[in-house]
Amino acid sequence: MAKDKAKPLCKWKKKEIAENLGDLAEIVRAPKYICQKCTRVAHKKKWLCNPEKLM
Ligand SMILES: [Zn+2]
Repeated sequence: MAKDKAKPLCKWKKKEIAENLGDLAEIVRAPKYICQKCTRVAHKKKWLCNPEKLM
């Protein structure tokens, strides 16, 4: 996956998750935001569809 392509984790399909495990590990490492809708976490807002800052 291209680094500048910011598709929210919320929209990733199973296949995309499987193909991008390396990227995913980076995205969810030391998370700063949580998606209020999907309860996923990420270190940048752009990876979530409804981001809320974690404490
Ligand atoms: Zn979401």
